Amino acid sequence: MKSNEIVSQLEFFRDIGVEDLDASTVGAVCDRPDGPRSASAIARSIENEAPLHLEDIRADLGDCRRCKLAPLRANIVFGSGNPHAELVFVGEAPGYDEDQQGLPFVGRAGQLLTKIIESINLKREDAYICNVLKCRPPENRNPEPDEVASCNPFLRKQLAAIRPKIVCCLGTFAAQTVLQTAAPISKLRGKFFDMDGMRVIATFHPAYLLRSPEKKREVWEDMKQIRAELFRLRS
Ligand code: URA
Repeated sequence: MKSNEIVSQLEFFRDIGVEDLDASTVGAVCDRPDGPRSASAIARSIENEAPLHLEDIRADLGDCRRCKLAPLRANIVFGSGNPHAELVFVGEAPGYDEDQQGLPFVGRAGQLLTKIIESINLKREDAYICNVLKCRPPENRNPEPDEVASCNPFLRKQLAAIRPKIVCCLGTFAAQTVLQTAAPISKLRGKFFDMDGMRVIATFHPAYLLRSPEKKREVWEDMKQIRAELFRLRS
């Protein structure tokens, strides 16, 4: 790692409020993710006849009219990133910027998410980022059960197609939807759960961190766990 990269990494840690740096934090080299998996490997992991590729799932979603959010949206926000990612982040729903651009986590919370991803020496493009809901709820209100029910099959298929090693749920809605529980984020965050061959962990939503910066320390602890688990699963 070049010295200017080390400086910018340290500046980031300062910005997100991390104080206890250890030497391994800076300069750890991240392996590239596994190469593409064979269709048969993916097929074995999917019990029904769901599409195997993200493009097929996106095509299946089409110009979705399955719930009441459809007429309100500017764009569907399907997801973006590496289709073979080892690490997938699942957020709640698009906000204004995401709705306008058709891409997840591109607003202020998204910029913080990028920094959080880089804190474990991954590039944002190495990960895959998506949301429980693919359309923006009006005024960014909470997702409603019928909306989650309409979108959840597509999130499940995205995860089945990517088959990441780790899924990181951002905030309450993502954690409760992915883990199918009503438990609060305070009970869910910071520990791994096993789901369909993936390790699932929840942490606080970056938008919450913008309002409550003192929670960044816990997110940093969660990210260190993710980094360690990725190394363990690769070896
Ligand atoms: N918040 C989310 O949960 N998802 C986004 O894409 C943006 C903000």
